[in-house]
Amino acid sequence: MRILLVEDDLPLASALQVSLKSEGFVVNHVNQGKVALNALSAPDQDMIILDLGLPDIDGLEVLNQLRKQKSSLPVIILTARDSLESKIKGLDYGADDYLVKPFEIQELMARLRVIERRLGTASSALICVGQVKLDTFAHKVFVGGDNADTEIECHFSKKEFMVLKALMENAGRILSREQIESKLYHWGEEVLSNAVEVHIHKLRKNLPDKFIQNVRGVGYIINNSY
Ligand code: CA
Repeated sequence: MRILLVEDDLPLASALQVSLKSEGFVVNHVNQGKVALNALSAPDQDMIILDLGLPDIDGLEVLNQLRKQKSSLPVIILTARDSLESKIKGLDYGADDYLVKPFEIQELMARLRVIERRLGTASSALICVGQVKLDTFAHKVFVGGDNADTEIECHFSKKEFMVLKALMENAGRILSREQIESKLYHWGEEVLSNAVEVHIHKLRKNLPDKFIQNVRGVGYIINNSY
């Protein structure tokens, strides 16, 4: 999941980025409303965390513009404005959720998971394909037998896990290298040209034979029928 974080409180923004990234989200951060609107013209965001008090245009105006463009991108407002009137306004402008600062990070994560489930990208914590089971909340991967006793846990790096998650969520569909990269890297982060291949190589070493298939010149696929 890619999150656009619109927040001008820089210490809060960087703390949020650390937490979100550790949960496996890819975060793009901007600190102004107009920059956010620009960023939103690119189709590669899955949801927005939106502050209202921004230095240029109000967060509500960002939301308003977004909905005028018929975008249904999920928006969580994260703001110090705690009046009932402000909450109602935010929701009526088209926000999916409204969280008041100060907030507990666990609550924000739980609300993000609600949106993920609604989007169908995380219908449950567990994604199972064949003998491979991926727990998206605990960030664990198990391979193996017919019952929990014979399962073996595989240990992967965060990026390897994210590659596997992307492929398993899209089981039966080919993902190109670019599509996989877009789920792994944040804006401005340098991407090594063979990074995806390296992650796939490490994954394959620990997963059943032919679980991840290479479709030459196109990308990678995990077959539903595996
Ligand atoms: Ca602010």
